[in-house]
Amino acid sequence: MSDRYAKQRIYLGKDRDARLRAARVAVVGLGATGSVIASWLARAGVGHLTLVDRDLVERSNLQRQILYGEGDRGRLKAEAAAERLREANSEIELRAVVADLTSGNARELLGGFDLLCDGTDNFEARFLLNDLSIEAGTPWIYTGAIGAEAVIWPIHPPRTACLRCLIEEPPSSGDVDTCDSAGVLGPAVGVAGSWAALEALKVLTGEMPQAELARFDLWNGERQFLKPPKTRCRFCTDKVTEFLDERWTLRASALCGLEGVQIRVNPPGKLDLEALKPRLEARTESPWKVSDLALKGEDGGNRVTLFRDGRALLHGPMSPERARSWYAEVIGS
Ligand SMILES: [Zn+2]
Repeated sequence: MSDRYAKQRIYLGKDRDARLRAARVAVVGLGATGSVIASWLARAGVGHLTLVDRDLVERSNLQRQILYGEGDRGRLKAEAAAERLREANSEIELRAVVADLTSGNARELLGGFDLLCDGTDNFEARFLLNDLSIEAGTPWIYTGAIGAEAVIWPIHPPRTACLRCLIEEPPSSGDVDTCDSAGVLGPAVGVAGSWAALEALKVLTGEMPQAELARFDLWNGERQFLKPPKTRCRFCTDKVTEFLDERWTLRASALCGLEGVQIRVNPPGKLDLEALKPRLEARTESPWKVSDLALKGEDGGNRVTLFRDGRALLHGPMSPERARSWYAEVIGS
């Protein structure tokens, strides 16, 4: 028997360590916190890891997203992450999923796991994770890092309060700090991700996770443990999953930290990238490249990446409004 897990087994004991080999975990978002969480879980020998991410590696990610190097720029994060983690542990199952989590695909993508880990940077995805947790009874771990602050909260309704017991609605985008407005320090992300991974190990080995929301201001050396509300909200009490049941068609949002826009469609579509390629080449009078996953090219000074599920990334000076009309005009909606 390999002694890869020897040190961990001394602490956890043989049975709890063995439980990790049988565990199935999805990490949603392979950015800063997701990189750290996935690294620890892969090295701890969690038997199956599904890595869900929608983005490409950018130069501005390298300061804090420890799964990627300079050579990964322009690659899909889910793929690059799976490759790096495979180098760390080839004995576990790793599955890369390039997708944007929406109400249209969340059940399909994230069904059948023992734990969902939040590596995202947005409340839309977290409210979807919360709904999945309410519906399927799967525990999830909220993880956030902004500035030098880290927030970690293991959630498992109905055993614990849910996200909506504390925050009923997602804050409107102007009300929350983002990595654009407040910046973020790499080590703060490291603490957030490591703390979350530790809670994940507890959940997966049948131990009680930390019941309180842990919040650290790491620059000023402050920490708080907030007790979740005793009164449970109607959403987790009555299993109301508004975010999973919501339907919308086309959304455009500015990309965090980058000049660019993301277009998303829900339910996810099926773009015929091979058929689109000659159309776009004729339109832009420039070559476009198609791969298994994406179609890439340039239009009007914007670098465009189109995915088979209908999503598009437009890097360049385009406004979200302009990007929407570009999409409607070029792809149709
Ligand atoms: Zn609740």
